[in-house]
Amino acid sequence: MAKICLCLTGKTLSRNLELIEKYRKYIDLAELRVDFLDPDECFSIRRFPEQAGIPVILTIRRKVDGGCFNSGEGARITLLSRGLAFAESDRRHNFAYVDLEEDLEAPGLEEAVRTFGTRIIRSSHNLTGVGDIVEKITSLRRIGDEIAKAAVMPKNLNDVRAIYRAARKTAGIEKIIIGMGNLSANTRILAEKTGSFLCYTSPQEPDLPPAAPGQLDPRELVERYRFRNITASTAVYGVVGFPLTTTYSPRIFNTVFDHEKIDAVYVPFPSNDLSRFLELAEDLHVAGASVTIPYKEAIISSLKNVSESVRIAGACNTIKAIPEEGNFPLCSWNGINTDTLGFSESLLHFIEKKTLRGRKITVLGAGGAARAVAAEIFRLKGKCLVLNRNAGRARDLAMVFKFPWGGLDSQSLDTMERYSDIIIQTTPVGTFPNTDDDPFELYHFDGHETVMDLIYNPPRTAFLRRAEVAGCKVLNGFDMLIRQAKYQYQYFFDRDFPEQLIPRLAAAFGL
Ligand code: NAP
Repeated sequence: MAKICLCLTGKTLSRNLELIEKYRKYIDLAELRVDFLDPDECFSIRRFPEQAGIPVILTIRRKVDGGCFNSGEGARITLLSRGLAFAESDRRHNFAYVDLEEDLEAPGLEEAVRTFGTRIIRSSHNLTGVGDIVEKITSLRRIGDEIAKAAVMPKNLNDVRAIYRAARKTAGIEKIIIGMGNLSANTRILAEKTGSFLCYTSPQEPDLPPAAPGQLDPRELVERYRFRNITASTAVYGVVGFPLTTTYSPRIFNTVFDHEKIDAVYVPFPSNDLSRFLELAEDLHVAGASVTIPYKEAIISSLKNVSESVRIAGACNTIKAIPEEGNFPLCSWNGINTDTLGFSESLLHFIEKKTLRGRKITVLGAGGAARAVAAEIFRLKGKCLVLNRNAGRARDLAMVFKFPWGGLDSQSLDTMERYSDIIIQTTPVGTFPNTDDDPFELYHFDGHETVMDLIYNPPRTAFLRRAEVAGCKVLNGFDMLIRQAKYQYQYFFDRDFPEQLIPRLAAAFGL
């Protein structure tokens, strides 16, 4: 079972001990990053493992490897020796591990370390790419008892894929493989799948710099991603999009998996290349995924079978792997659209109606979500105007349903006033952290409109706040999010969504 390691980047030993206390129930060991300590503190590192009461890795990372130490190799070896000297027979009082880079030459130190049972993590750091990870992992160790560690920086999804492939090819070697940066945060969550000995984490504390880019908070790893439940056979689900900075889906699905005792994990796959994501997903045996901004339309050409909802909306937000002849990694993908019913059920519930007959509705935006919205308005007999920044895209969408269309500009205001019983805001404008942005400031609400914004973070966008002040009835996108997730869950697992969890989920998001 992969261990969780808390990286300690406090300036003082006492601050680092506080952190261990605070996160103790989430972690198995800690890494004392001496390169972050104030110089005076370095004299007292020897007693740290005993005070910590948990296995500790001693690390002094050089700048060239992504750390802060820049006083030369002589000084570094002296400092390492200070931490490892006077080893006690009670091993819990010694550092359990020491991280030594592949090019460090200190044979005397290594000999002493081995004699007293401190294990060596032999590390390599590639801050500009991934290189040949298999070659690195197989050649790093100087003797069999060492743990090989390759920390690499993927630049694209091929590089992320290389991490998972290298992990498989080096199965059987005790190792740590880490993909740094946001593109590969999933390699940290799936450490058990990469056969990594541990997963490094950084506490999210205002005074602490993260030890390395892309590290997660230990609480998030345990509570949101159920790290301790992940095994080699755990099914992988996820969400693909870019940049994927705001997504509530991992929390929703992992909470449901936990409640329903499903052996699965749901992780983010930030992907700057959709076809490469599909290759990675095949390699990793991803069983299903949500598809979000900007891929809801682009994904369709990669799907073997699509539902009626995808055909009508021209957008897909959910894909499921169909293993060829029942076996991964060869698979094809089928897709459905759950934004459609998620949207219409949420709106109809809010306005307490069964159809949109007679309603005049404006949709702001013409992207993937707007396509699902327009398709449902059409199905439910509403009349609809589509306005978009790129007017040509508004036209392309509107013409499918023979709706009028226009740009997001002053020329559309008169028409919009005639289509203002309900206004559906489907652009990402106003999403956290840009919470003061408003997609259509030119439009002035007079209070008769019902206004729905598909955004759920923040719960009240600037657009909804303005509508509410004018006296409109307003609805954010959280109810739609849950309803569409419910259909995704049914599609993935062919069972009913546990609706009793919805209040708990809403509370978790502060809604
Ligand atoms: P998308 O396919 O990329 O479409 C984005 C749309 O927003 C396009 O029409 C785009 O106009 C417009 N847009 C982007 N930036 C703009 C700006 N600065 N000013 C004016 N218009 C702008 O994205 P999507 O998948 O439709 O998602 C859109 C939003 O809906 C996201 O915030 C997403 O989180 C939300 N959503 C919520 C739910 C839910 O369950 N609550 C479900 C689906 C989506 P151009 O064509 O001119 O670029």
